Amino acid sequence: MQMYMWSYHADRMPQIRVAIPGIESMFMLCVTLQRPLSAGRIRLASADPAVQPVIDINLLAEEWDMERMVDGVRRAWELFTSPTIGPLAEAVLRPNEASVADEDGVRAYLRQNVSHLVHPVGTCKMGPADDPLAVVDQFGAVHGLSGLRVADASIMPNIPRANTNLTAIMIGERVAEWMREG
Ligand SMILES: Cc1cc2nc3c(=O)[nH]c(=O)nc-3n(C[C@H](O)[C@H](O)[C@H](O)COP(=O)(O)OP(=O)(O)OC[C@H]3O[C@@H](n4cnc5c(N)ncnc54)[C@H](O)[C@@H]3O)c2cc1C
Repeated sequence: MQMYMWSYHADRMPQIRVAIPGIESMFMLCVTLQRPLSAGRIRLASADPAVQPVIDINLLAEEWDMERMVDGVRRAWELFTSPTIGPLAEAVLRPNEASVADEDGVRAYLRQNVSHLVHPVGTCKMGPADDPLAVVDQFGAVHGLSGLRVADASIMPNIPRANTNLTAIMIGERVAEWMREG
């Protein structure tokens, strides 16, 4: 799990004034699961490559993800309301104390507010040729097609614990090396 603290000021992000009238600056603590068990799906909507695919992110489908997120929201609440951080803010906008105290309340809050951390991976599964879902082998070479490789986040077998950007770059570097070697 990672927790990110972000701050915003309406001078730099005027949308805040529209979203929450009367608020000029805010900070938030973002609770994130780096290794969710829930998996989403991406399906083609058309054979035309210009048509956007159908993406179902399917967040919190697995109970273990929900349990960890409930725990994370409660830890974030404790931090936000601690004697050190609490006095820095006039108010906690959401969630509220009642919903944090009640497990069902946190679950409902999560279902309404959960989002992803822009780290989708694994839409082009790596695996052996006899796996019907596998697209590439362990070198990024596409099964059944010669001379075509995939070298990006889509071939990660699952989401790494670290954020995905550096890992994607390293996949590119490594596959390029294999291609140079022939
Ligand atoms: C808002 C945001 C914030 C992020 N913040 C972080 C962060 O702080 N740290 C971190 O580690 N990761 C972060 N990530 C995740 C990280 O950026 C991605 O995991 C990583 O960029 C994935 O690399 P990729 O090469 O697989 O795909 P991409 O970087 O998405 O590259 C795909 C490329 O393909 C091109 N392309 C698409 N369609 C076509 C087409 N038809 N023809 C030709 N080219 C095409 C696109 O223009 C793009 O250049 C963030 C992602 C987002 C969206």
